[in-house]
Amino acid sequence: MKRMTRKATRHVSQNEGLIFEKSSPGKAAWRLPPLDVPEANPASLLGQAEREDLGNMPEVSEVEIIRHFTRLSTWNYAIDLGMYPLGSCTMKYNPRVNEAVNRLEGVANVHPYQPEKISQGALAIMKTLSECLIEITGMDAITLQPAAGAHGELTGLLLVRAFLESKGRPRQKILIPDSAHGTNPATAATVGYAVENLKSNSAGMVDVAALAAQMNEEVAALMLTNPNTLGIFEKEIHTIADILHSKGGLLYMDGANMNALVAKVRPGDFGVDLMHLNLHKTFSTPHGGGGPGSGPVAVKRALEPFLPRPVIVTKANGTLGFDYDRPQAVGRVRAFYGNFGMFTRALAYIMANGPDGLRQTTEDAVLNANYIRKGLQGAYDLPYPTASMHEVVFSDKLQAKKGVRTMDLAKRLIDYGFHPYTTAFPLIVAGALMIEPTESESKEELDLFIEAMRSIAEEVEEDPTAVREAPHSTRVSRLDEVAAARKPVLRWKKASNS
Ligand SMILES: *Cc1c(COP(=O)(O)O)cnc(C)c1O
Repeated sequence: MKRMTRKATRHVSQNEGLIFEKSSPGKAAWRLPPLDVPEANPASLLGQAEREDLGNMPEVSEVEIIRHFTRLSTWNYAIDLGMYPLGSCTMKYNPRVNEAVNRLEGVANVHPYQPEKISQGALAIMKTLSECLIEITGMDAITLQPAAGAHGELTGLLLVRAFLESKGRPRQKILIPDSAHGTNPATAATVGYAVENLKSNSAGMVDVAALAAQMNEEVAALMLTNPNTLGIFEKEIHTIADILHSKGGLLYMDGANMNALVAKVRPGDFGVDLMHLNLHKTFSTPHGGGGPGSGPVAVKRALEPFLPRPVIVTKANGTLGFDYDRPQAVGRVRAFYGNFGMFTRALAYIMANGPDGLRQTTEDAVLNANYIRKGLQGAYDLPYPTASMHEVVFSDKLQAKKGVRTMDLAKRLIDYGFHPYTTAFPLIVAGALMIEPTESESKEELDLFIEAMRSIAEEVEEDPTAVREAPHSTRVSRLDEVAAARKPVLRWKKASNS
C-alpha cells in the first residue's frame, strides 16, 4: 500500500503562471461595512502618502486567495500531515492544548516591559517551568534564556569557563566524542577552547580507557550526549563522571536526547554538572523553519552564581521578581528572558502529561524506535548491535552496492508521503539513516513507514535508477539545497517571456 502523493493535476501544474498569476482588475476579497462616521478626505488624512491606485497589488476574490494559500500549504510537509522521522531533531507533535494555553489573553498579550507587579502570572509560568525542569533533570538551578540547543551549549560552556576561572584558570580543552552533534565542537571553539576528539568503542559508546588516558588538568569539560547520537545509552556514565571529576573537570551533557530519559532517570543523579534542554524537541514546543526554539541550561549548585542575569526570585514580600544583582553572572545571553511562548507550551505539555504521562511518553518513544529497528532489520544494515533508545541508526551499506545512497533513499521516502529521516549523521556511520519516530506516532503510522522503507529496499534491487532519481511526486525534484539556503528566492516573479 503506497501512500503516493498526487501527481500532476491542475494544482501541480507545470505552468507556474496558472498558479501565481491570478489577478484580474476589479476583483476583491474584502467587503467593508457601511460607513457609520462622517466620510473624511483621504488626502487630508494621508497627505503625500495617499496613493492614486493600488500599483501592482494583486486583485483576487476570496475563494481564489483561500485556494491559493491552501494549495501552497499542501506543497509542504508538516508534522500535522504525518510522521517526521528526523533523528536527533525530535520532531514530535505539538499538542493543541499547548496552543490553546498560549492563546489565553494574559499569556498572548503579556509584554516584557510590563512592571513586575503586573507580570506575576508570567513570572509564575517561568518559575513553575524552571522547577519542573530542575526536577526532571535532577539539577539545582536553571536559566531559561538561551534561544536554542546550540545557544544553550554556548551558555553552558561560558558557565564552565567562568566557574573554572573562579577556581584559578579556565583550562584549555574540551573533550568531545566522535559521534557528537556538530554544534558541540563549534560551541567549544566559539568559547575559545581547543577541541579534542574522543573515539567511540565498537559498541558505539565512549571508550572509558581512552577517556582516562586523555583526561588531564587541561581538560575543562567533556561534552557528552546521552543517549548519544547513535541512540545508545552511555552505561558507563558514572565512571565517565568520576574520571572527569577526579581531575577537576566538568561533565556537560547535551540534553537534546532527553526524550529517552524524562521521568525515568535524571542526569543530575548520574554525575552531570550542567546540561541544556531543547524544549522544542523534548517538550513538544514546535520547531522547524528557523525557530524560535528554547534551550534552557540546568546546573548543579556550584555553577549557580554564574547563571546569566536576571534570575527569577521570590522577594521578601512574597511576590516574584527579577534579580539583576549577580556579580559573578556570565552576563545576559538573550534579550529579555528568552522565548516566552516556548515556556508556556512546554509547561502546558508537562502539566497535561503529569509525571506518569511523561514516563509513558518516554517509554513509548523508546518502544517506537525499537519497533522500527525490528521492522527494518535485514532490509537495512545495522552498524551497531547495541540496543536502541529513542532513535535507531541504520546505514546504506546494502543499498550502496547498487549505487543507491542514504540521500537517495530519503528522497524516495518523500514519494511515499513521509518526511525524510536524518541523512549522513552521525558522522561515525558512513551513509547513516537516522530514524526517530517519537512517541507521537501510532502503530498504524509506524507500520506504514516500515512498509515504505521495505518497499524502497526492494525497489533498490529492481530499479535502482528510479530510486536515485527520486522524488517523482513533488513539484520540484532535487534542489540545490545549499543555494536554496544561501540565496533563497522568496518571491514569485513573472517570467519575462510569459
Ligand atoms: C538538535 C541538537 C543540537 C542543537 O540544538 P538546536 O536547538 O538545533 O540548536 C545539539 N545536539 C544534539 C544532539 C541535537 O540533536
